Amino acid sequence: MRRKLIAGNWKMNGSLAANATLLDGILAGAAQLQADLAVCVPAPYLAQVQTALSGSAVAWGAQDVSLHESGAYTGEVSVAMLKDFGCRYVIVGHSERRSYHGETDAVVAQKTVRALAAGLVPIVCIGETLQEREQGDTDAVVIRQLGAVLDALKAAAAPLSGIVIAYEPVWAIGTGKTATPAMAQQVHELIRAQLAQRDASAAASVKILYGGSMKPDNAKELLAMADIDGGLIGGAALKAADFLAIAQAA
Ligand code: PEP
Repeated sequence: MRRKLIAGNWKMNGSLAANATLLDGILAGAAQLQADLAVCVPAPYLAQVQTALSGSAVAWGAQDVSLHESGAYTGEVSVAMLKDFGCRYVIVGHSERRSYHGETDAVVAQKTVRALAAGLVPIVCIGETLQEREQGDTDAVVIRQLGAVLDALKAAAAPLSGIVIAYEPVWAIGTGKTATPAMAQQVHELIRAQLAQRDASAAASVKILYGGSMKPDNAKELLAMADIDGGLIGGAALKAADFLAIAQAA
């Protein structure tokens, strides 16, 4: 039985004051939950969340990481720096990184390996655009994006069981459009089958999250699907009541 994970992606939102209110709200409801909870915050706020969440039931992480270890990479943040601030998770390959920052499958794969080697849990995002879905390419895109990561893990002899996958159809992110539970389940099942081809026992334990306009009113149906093991939540993670309601649905 895979324990559900509800992870918030705050994106480039927040301030010290707004975060304090949000974190207080999340902490007030976090203890009674059956699901694991995490927040992935902008890097400048990692110290704040480390102080606020240490010793609580809520884990934290970053939204991106450098594929380099250290050195002359202005503006980049390393896995060691994330570890310094107690991060458990790091999102890699979010569609906004892929589309606005030109991250390729190969870059996402290298970041995944780097994060795993440092003891972080990479939340690896994959998913098709609207155009790809309409062309009937959803399965091929997901298999290609996932395959790059799985090949890199194999080459690095890194354990598949250490990653979390987030299926995020790009057309559903921040748009209010959600994949139906059946549509999402079909892709999650495909992802688990791809994992099983590499490592059957790891495939049974790897969490596959759904992301894309998950909200309190649609979370229950999505989270009831057999291969949906949680959610990566954008907009609804910025309101403690909504984030907790999704976690309650899990
Ligand atoms: C996301 O950014 O990963 C996401 C799923 O956003 P939203 O929930 O706002 O669609």
